[in-house]
Order: sequence, then C-alpha cells, then structure tokens
Amino acid sequence: MNYVLIGKFSPKLEEIKEFFVNLKFKGEYNISIYDPKHLFIELTLLEDRNKLWMKQVCFISILPMRIFKWDANFNPSKESSIRPVWVSFHGLPLYLLIEYGLASVANTIDTPIRFDSFNINRVKLGVATVCVELDISLPRVHTVWVNFEDEEDPILDEGFWQKGEYEFIPPYCVECSHIGHTQEACKRLAAANLKGKSKVDAVAHPPPKRFKDHNNTPKKGV
Ligand SMILES: [Zn+2]
Repeated sequence: MNYVLIGKFSPKLEEIKEFFVNLKFKGEYNISIYDPKHLFIELTLLEDRNKLWMKQVCFISILPMRIFKWDANFNPSKESSIRPVWVSFHGLPLYLLIEYGLASVANTIDTPIRFDSFNINRVKLGVATVCVELDISLPRVHTVWVNFEDEEDPILDEGFWQKGEYEFIPPYCVECSHIGHTQEACKRLAAANLKGKSKVDAVAHPPPKRFKDHNNTPKKGV
C-alpha cells in the first residue's frame, strides 16, 4: 500500500467494512484498527486517498469519522495539521487555466491535490480553485509570485504577483496539536498553567510555621 490515512472514530467493525465497500475505491485498500478510536486506512491509489481525505469528515451510522493524514510521527493523542484546503485565484491569465499552469500557481503555496474541472474544461474562467495540501499550523501565504517560464515566448517569461483566497480553515492549537481551537482557548494549556501557578503559590505561601518548625518539639525528659 502506498498511502495511509487515519480515521478517528469509535466504530463497529461490520459498519466500517460496509461503509468502505460503498465508497467504491478504484484500488485495493486495507482497514486495520489501531486502537478503539483510530483506524489505519491503507490505500494503493493516490486518487482514492484524495477522495477520502478531502471529505475530512464521514458519517458511519450517524457517528462522525474524521480523516487525517498519516505520517511516520503519528501519535494518537495528536491531530495532524496537514489538511486539504481549497484556494481561489481570481483573474489568472487564460494560458494558466490548464492543469500544468494551475499546478505552477498552486505550488507557490503548497502541493496541489486536485483542480476544479470547471477551470480545466474552460467552463469557469474568472476564478480558478485548487485544493492544496496545507500545514494549517503555519502562517498563511496570501500573495505569491508566479513565474511561468516560456523559452519560446519571452512575453510569457515574466512573473506577476497573485493573490490567493483560502476557504474557511479551522483553527489549529500548536499547544495540544488539535484542530478546532486556538492556543489562547486551549483548555489543556489553561489547566497546565493553573497547575504551574498552584506550584508557584505553594512556594510563595509556605505552610504555617507550626508544621515546619521542629525547634518547638518538646524535648524528652523536660
Ligand atoms: Zn489546545
């Protein structure tokens, strides 16, 4: 298998198997249970990987299963910050509305995963949208320099600045590595800070002297 995704879920095995059969993957795949909340989803085709990954959330018997990219540092207590994200580019030159051209533009942000067929088929020209593999824990790049080299036509061998607009991207907390809240709103961080503060308070306000001062201990025989 070439590609691995993580399904975060509390499943029943039979329902999971039925769900994956209905997805009708083109290539072979294998599902294994990593722990009671995580599935390993191994796929042979990138096309199938992208099809499932881009769903982000699937529902199996009304229970949500969130899909994450797997990497060698997989830790079940953390969530990957790498996500498929659609980016829109307004007013691109028409000569770029081909897969190679759009890939050149999207690559300035991150690895392209999928193109909008309406752009490739010249149905939609004003706005091009490309799905890229993005690390949402990093600051976003909003303006990119596009340099589309063309040795035969020097006019095209020039660059230009291009703005990119991202679809909604949920916040990612780098403190606890979870999607859905910012570091400022992190409950784990707040709890850790509170715990640390308690320790400081304990040092700043030591117990009453009677618990520490052994000089007042009555001496034997007095
Ligand atoms: Zn957090």
